[in-house]
Amino acid sequence: MSLAPRAFEVPVPGELVEVAPRVLRLTAPNPSIMTGPGTNTYLVGEHDLVAIDPGPVDEGHLDAVAAAAAERGRLRAVLVTHHHADHAPGARGLAERTGAEVLGYEERETYSPDRLVREGDLVEVGDVALRAVHTPGHASDHLCFLTETPDRLLFSGDHVMGGSTVVIAPPDGDMAAYLDSLDRLLGERPPIERIVPGHGPLMPDARAVLIGYRAHRLAREAAVLAALARRNRASVEELVADVYTDVPEALHPVARYSVWAHLLKFRDEGLATSAAPDRLEATWEPVG
Ligand SMILES: [Zn+2]
Repeated sequence: MSLAPRAFEVPVPGELVEVAPRVLRLTAPNPSIMTGPGTNTYLVGEHDLVAIDPGPVDEGHLDAVAAAAAERGRLRAVLVTHHHADHAPGARGLAERTGAEVLGYEERETYSPDRLVREGDLVEVGDVALRAVHTPGHASDHLCFLTETPDRLLFSGDHVMGGSTVVIAPPDGDMAAYLDSLDRLLGERPPIERIVPGHGPLMPDARAVLIGYRAHRLAREAAVLAALARRNRASVEELVADVYTDVPEALHPVARYSVWAHLLKFRDEGLATSAAPDRLEATWEPVG
């Protein structure tokens, strides 16, 4: 399968790019430290289309997605990977523009699905067939969508991102669940070929990316545990300063959430303890 070279380049908001046969990408103009170049909205199909992740309520972006769909046929379904503000809130506006149905894991404060999609459900629209894979970790309601065709594309939402790692923010984010979800995807048969992420460019070697993500998380985990042992008593902030020496300081406030998520996993495993584990500001100690 040959792919447009631009599929692998950093997305530019407002540019419509065919990243794979019958898969168009339109990136919303919401770049930030958390969203990279912006949220990718995908249109999948030929005449009957599915949209994945409408993005925020941005009228210009939703107009452009609706227009791109109308040029090819009719948008039937709007799939939402998870409820976060950069992915879900545009769902209703896109549905109103097109008459499509909104599909997602469950009703949350940012959107409300017309139909719920759960682990293993097959979303079939025209000749598009996408299987929902429940991948909690980044968010408890996170779904990835996998094509059942030999191309084995995984629409990964924020479970895997192009150009950065993923923040796990408790309490909705859960590090143990995140690692389990990565393993789960590595176990898919036939294997996933390519990753089509919610942010950043298409990733051609899914297995290498998933293994790399797993190794990265486990390396951070080991580093957090070692730093806690060295200090014997530490705040999340102190552990970030010890462990995230390879990451610009501007990102340290965000990294705190992932360290907190590691610490909560340690607590559940009997490796660390805190008097106030449910607070980001708490102090932690190793056990044993
Ligand atoms: Zn996102």
